[in-house]
Amino acid sequence: MTAEQILEHFRQTNALLEGHFILSSGLHSPKYLQCALALQNPFDAVKFGRAIAEHYTNEKIETVASPAIGGLIIGFAVAQALNVRFIWTERENGAMTVRRGFSVKKTEKILVVEDVITTGGSTRECIEALEKYGAEVVGAASIIDRSNGAADVGVPRISLVSLDVPNYKSENCPMCERGDEAIKPGSRK
Ligand SMILES: [Zn+2]
Repeated sequence: MTAEQILEHFRQTNALLEGHFILSSGLHSPKYLQCALALQNPFDAVKFGRAIAEHYTNEKIETVASPAIGGLIIGFAVAQALNVRFIWTERENGAMTVRRGFSVKKTEKILVVEDVITTGGSTRECIEALEKYGAEVVGAASIIDRSNGAADVGVPRISLVSLDVPNYKSENCPMCERGDEAIKPGSRK
């Protein structure tokens, strides 16, 4: 799957909107991303999972782990493609934590998978939660890299698509300057 094919799928499912949007941060952007919409059809999720897994077939990954909620579907799909187990981390009192009785072994080789990396914050927190148990996080992967390569999560990282998503304060927004109306899309993660 090429990056352009993936982007086309994102456009077709409305997971990627192009226009003039007010993000939840209040900033304006010509692009709006809602990855969950691209993963509604399990067949598509499986395809993305396989495309990520292809990068790790020689890495002896023992476990895939994802930060909930965004990483759950794609993480599951990657784990299925690699034929390894899948676990997740979630927030407890604000801190990313391994819960639900999931065990993490010392030196266990883990791949962390997310749908979208923006600043890399939740992936980084997921990695830290796993490293507390002595796990060896060998890499991090996402379908989309919204940081355009800038996010540093402390381990080698890949993404299927790198996307530059510029954003502007309303007073500096070139689309506002042109007089285009800004749209506030539905709820997002
Ligand atoms: Zn604007």
